[in-house]
Amino acid sequence: MNRNEEILEELARLYPDAKPALHFRSPYELLVAVVLSAQCTDERVNKVTAVLFETYNTPEKMLTLTQEELERYIFSCGFYRNKAKHILSASADILTRYGGKVPDTLEELQTLAGVGRKTANVVYAVAFGGDAIAVDTHVFRVSNRLGLAEGKTPEKVEEGLMAVIPKSQWSDAHHFLIWHGRKVCHSQRPACAECTLKAFCKKYENE
Ligand code: SF4
Repeated sequence: MNRNEEILEELARLYPDAKPALHFRSPYELLVAVVLSAQCTDERVNKVTAVLFETYNTPEKMLTLTQEELERYIFSCGFYRNKAKHILSASADILTRYGGKVPDTLEELQTLAGVGRKTANVVYAVAFGGDAIAVDTHVFRVSNRLGLAEGKTPEKVEEGLMAVIPKSQWSDAHHFLIWHGRKVCHSQRPACAECTLKAFCKKYENE
């Protein structure tokens, strides 16, 4: 077993139940939740969507809201103006170009207004079971620290991870790395003393 396989095996042992923390009941709800989760905790997003999705859980219903009305619902998630704009434009795209259904390919997802590569990757992997690695702030940090995939941009890290992890494990690896970032390898003051991956960690080795 090589070093990368050992890291993944340990992550799988640590987080056997790793799954998305965002609540959703459809690909559309997941898409909206992922847009809201930028620079915001999943707990906060879940609170906001619990209210929002009671009524506005399809592109048609979402588009009955004005930008200002939607902003009031999602205000506490931060960056609410941009997020509202992105949700409304993506909803309009889904309705007019995809018959009201969130498209299920990575290429089509990325054509939706306001949907970047990270959001598309999460929706593709989580809602449709596709093979993708979405590089968010946790995946980016932990991958670099461990030396699993090093790079200065999320795109570079995504490429690196796809090169060293078998395709069938991309989605699981994405969740493992997020959970390790949340629970142990924090941005500030990572809990290295209790981290069972320190024997593999480039950051730990260099300190
Ligand atoms: S040893 Fe420290 S820096 Fe390395 S993965 Fe563990 S918590 Fe993160």
